[in-house]
Amino acid sequence: MQTTDPTTGEKIKSYPEFSLPRINGILNHAEKSFQSWRGASFKERGLLMKKAAEILRKDKDQYARLMAREMGKPLMQGQGEIEKCAFVCDFYAEHAEFFLTPEPVRTEASKSFVAYEPLGIVLAVMPWNFPFWQVFRCAAPTLMAGNAVILKHASNVCGCALAIEKIFKDAGFPPALFSNVIISSSKVKVLIDHPFIKAVSLTGSTGAGKSIATHAGAVLKKTVLELGGSDPYIILEDADLESAAEICVNSRLINGGQSCISAKRFIAVASVFKEFEERFTARMQMQRMGPPLHEGVNLGPLARHDLRVQLHRQVDKSVKQGAKLLLGGAIPLGPGAFYPPTVLTRVRPGMAAYQEELFGPVAALIEVADEQEAIRTANDTVFGLGAAVFTRDTKRGERIAVQELQAGGCFVNDSVKSDPRLPFGGIKESGYGRELAESGIKEFINVKTVYIK
Ligand code: NAP
Repeated sequence: MQTTDPTTGEKIKSYPEFSLPRINGILNHAEKSFQSWRGASFKERGLLMKKAAEILRKDKDQYARLMAREMGKPLMQGQGEIEKCAFVCDFYAEHAEFFLTPEPVRTEASKSFVAYEPLGIVLAVMPWNFPFWQVFRCAAPTLMAGNAVILKHASNVCGCALAIEKIFKDAGFPPALFSNVIISSSKVKVLIDHPFIKAVSLTGSTGAGKSIATHAGAVLKKTVLELGGSDPYIILEDADLESAAEICVNSRLINGGQSCISAKRFIAVASVFKEFEERFTARMQMQRMGPPLHEGVNLGPLARHDLRVQLHRQVDKSVKQGAKLLLGGAIPLGPGAFYPPTVLTRVRPGMAAYQEELFGPVAALIEVADEQEAIRTANDTVFGLGAAVFTRDTKRGERIAVQELQAGGCFVNDSVKSDPRLPFGGIKESGYGRELAESGIKEFINVKTVYIK
């Protein structure tokens, strides 16, 4: 595995792939630790999780720099990501017991109740775009529930994977309870087959999701899949257009646009389309692209060169299909995987920008006649991760969010977010299962019925 700085194109470090005997050794160790960890009290687990949060906060800057180096995230965004990781550790340290306390159920038995038990070792296959957050939002609840975690991180963020493993080790978790394995994606199947692996959590592309679900299905192991998205943001005629444009641009560009819940399709009704288009484009133009460690930069390079090639192909194809390029769309000269803020307008069904996930700073603007067409267009996608609607009439917004939009999370007058207190996940090809909140900690457990006559 080779890590490469996307800002300069320089190679950082190469990591040998783990051998099978080494992986088996780690799994044996993790299983042994799991057998004692499952008996630890929530208080004991929580103390270690709080310690992990402390380490994250203490070394926030170091981790943010590592992300900037390995995948180009601007420093301030990286620091924010680490704060959020600390928050999710604290959140589950404080709430796991409440979520997993056995629940009495009144039946004909002298005593009957539901108990929540850990499953064992959970394999976490994670992406590079939020190299710390994606791992912590899976690991914090999974470990607090009494499980162990084996991490297979994306190949371009091996340094982040090792740093995370060290955080759990330094926090005092039992040996190998959280372990990193450096392997290529083709070896994931070997891990899924291993009898100690009881379930798999994948955050990644829809293609990876289908492959992992197929394989795990064949050996009857549970999966949680957090996959791609093409979140629609609807702008209605009664929206506050300035605020909507600001929120839409921020959501499109966060993490260089490489977020599953970045706003990707902007669907504005005809009466305000032109004005929204102008305000949106003006804000996209104001962004400062540059090296992620430079002050004031809010748009770094894309995480890898091949991702830029793919994104540019989608832009080119959309233009050939009839979309109009309002801003950006040209690969800048010089080293680094930079791609400028790009606005495509007059995007229509059938175009690449309409139906594919745009994983970078490229916005697709779509004009529709009215609310009904906006909703139809928003739902006209294979994805169903997040969606947002902008209107001054919050009752109208609530109705659209609850009754009309097909997505795992629907937001009114704000961008789609992940928050430890709220369940997160998708429907359709965006996956299944939930992370975060109470739903997240209940994914990798045995819901055990106990009945005593
Ligand atoms: P990716 O190529 O699917 O990779 C994600 C992880 O899966 C990596 O660890 C990768 O390993 C591994 N992988 C890839 N193909 C695999 C296969 N066939 N079998 C087993 N493992 C496989 O995704 P990405 O490019 O890193 O991330 C971007 C995608 O993730 C986007 O579609 C984005 O929307 C989605 N995402 C979703 C969420 C969510 O919460 N729903 C959050 C973030 C990102 P290698 O790196 O070694 O290939």
